[in-house]
Amino acid sequence: MHRGIERDYRYLLSRIVPRHLLSIERRAELEGVLAGGSRFDLIREAYSSMEELARTGAFLNGRVSAADGTVSIAYRSALQAMTITLAMTADEWESVTGAKRRAEGILPSVFAGIISSLALNDSSKTVIMRIDELLSLTGRISDGAQGKLLFVKSIPAIREFSREKVAFLPLNEALKRKLYHVCLTSGMPHTFIRIAGGSATESVYAIDGAAKSILMIPLQARDVKWAILEIHLPDESPPDRDAASNFRILADGLVRLIENNAHLEKMVSIDRLTEVHNRNYYEMQVPLEIERANRNKMTLAFLIIDIDDFKKVNDVYGHAVGDHVLRLVAQTVRKSLRKIDLLFRYGGEEFIVLLPGTGAESAQRTAERIRGIVARAEHPLDDGRKVKVTISIGGCIYPQDAQNESHLLRMADKALYLAKEKGKNRVVFCGE
Ligand code: GH3
Ligand code: MG
Ligand code: MG
Repeated sequence: MHRGIERDYRYLLSRIVPRHLLSIERRAELEGVLAGGSRFDLIREAYSSMEELARTGAFLNGRVSAADGTVSIAYRSALQAMTITLAMTADEWESVTGAKRRAEGILPSVFAGIISSLALNDSSKTVIMRIDELLSLTGRISDGAQGKLLFVKSIPAIREFSREKVAFLPLNEALKRKLYHVCLTSGMPHTFIRIAGGSATESVYAIDGAAKSILMIPLQARDVKWAILEIHLPDESPPDRDAASNFRILADGLVRLIENNAHLEKMVSIDRLTEVHNRNYYEMQVPLEIERANRNKMTLAFLIIDIDDFKKVNDVYGHAVGDHVLRLVAQTVRKSLRKIDLLFRYGGEEFIVLLPGTGAESAQRTAERIRGIVARAEHPLDDGRKVKVTISIGGCIYPQDAQNESHLLRMADKALYLAKEKGKNRVVFCGE
């Protein structure tokens, strides 16, 4: 069929469609449309007739393809060597197939739009909005479907903004639940579970009364298991082939989005020399940590670390060794912190540490411990020599010593200056 030629649809309906195989109702509709229907009526009738013939098995299910704004649906006859192809504009396709099928033709382009619009300077807030947008498409693929995303790999920035549809469960915890175990270990593209089976009670998400089954699609790429796309469905039977394949396209889109984001985040947040967080990430994280401290009514300890006489290390051993030592010191500090503490290279040989939920006394103990560990460490060089350096630390506490980022930095810097003045290799806190 050629788009825009009404005669073709008329011809198809009057001469080609095997009318004797249609139901009486369908045949009556068809006659009516032929007697005086519009072009659109003819297309809709052709589609309805062919779908009916596909349901009865006289034709094999219509294969849909789209190119240059034209959608083609090809039905192959089960009885003879004949294929009937309906061609129509994308708009006509949307109208004749109705809302339920609407997602098919546009899904890939919607993904492309959402994913390609992820820019380098996108915040994790934007990323979670994109995830929300993608999840909301589950309802367009299959009426009443609700998409949820369960991360089994830790993504701190996303966790910060997690919402009702996005949750976290460490991989080992997820593996303990039968519901997720199969999905994560079977290697199958998806796992379908009827809720009557009982395992739904193990879902991380509440199952509302409308859900009768769950479809789970593992999200992984290059052996990294990121998450599970969990879709709550209102039917007891598995989704049809089209819907299942659309859910998988959706899952692929989510994987790409998550991977891109993780990659970009690493590129913009990690200092390449020391492999600790960089200043860019510091600027993004400080407001979040302050906000979190306010929300949880907790304190936040702020430390500045500066390597003592680092210029001398460069002078004595050369800049390359200086770089090497800088990296080792950063790693030594990182290892002596808790997982939830944040370490940033603020510039040159200066670092900032944020200790969430830590008060003055405990922060001083931590700072003193780090200072001691660094002072005792001997950093081996390739030629067998060992370099030792010391650090000075200035600290203050949010909110009692300072109430915003620049104030915290000023107060900690002042304390650091005092530590240097007092002879270096020591810790000084604000107010001492
Ligand atoms: P102080 O105890 O007062 O901190 O003395 P210092 O020598 O550490 O302080 P100063 O600020 O005068 O010098 C810092 C030195 O750190 C100067 C610079 O050569 C060195 N430095 C900064 N960034 C890097 C880097 O990325 N690699 C190397 N190798 N050296 C660096
Ligand atoms: Mg310095
Ligand atoms: Mg220094």
